[in-house]
Amino acid sequence: MLLPILPYGHPVLRTKGAKVGALNDDLRQLARNMIETMNAARGVGLAAQQVGRALQLTVVDVRGAERPSQLFLGAREADIETAMPLVLINPQIRLDEAREEGEEGCLSFPGLCAPVMRATTVHVTATGLRGGKLQITATGLVARVLQHEIDHLNGVLFIDRMTPEALKPLEAAIRKLERATLATLPRSRRK
Ligand code: ZN
Repeated sequence: MLLPILPYGHPVLRTKGAKVGALNDDLRQLARNMIETMNAARGVGLAAQQVGRALQLTVVDVRGAERPSQLFLGAREADIETAMPLVLINPQIRLDEAREEGEEGCLSFPGLCAPVMRATTVHVTATGLRGGKLQITATGLVARVLQHEIDHLNGVLFIDRMTPEALKPLEAAIRKLERATLATLPRSRRK
């Protein structure tokens, strides 16, 4: 089932996700719907906040993306085409020191993209959809997407990571998007 993707200005996007407890059918269905929604929107990642649920849950799928990635599951290099989509529950991320700049977009900011500095290599531990522990090391696009999505789970957005120079040309569009979103919310939910 396709879920509506909430645009910037919705307060849930600034809400830290609650830790997921026991894996149940509701959560599994939510994860499946998030994958379907991400794929239909041609996104490479989607966080639970973006579909209105402040939970430590995100999905990632970079199949078909042009930018290269490396993905290790445990000690073994994984094939992106067969390892994706990834469902990450309660992920913890550790960043290596090296940084690189790359273009980034976000399904909650339709049509907006700008360069963001991110770690080139990340290490993530998480619970998978069947309850197993995932140990991920990633570089390239997957590393970038993991940082972007795990930020979402903490209420952090890519605009927070942009330099003032990268942000400046987007500011008017961001304000317009926020105003349009706030106008759709009941008065009690506005900030
Ligand atoms: Zn995003």
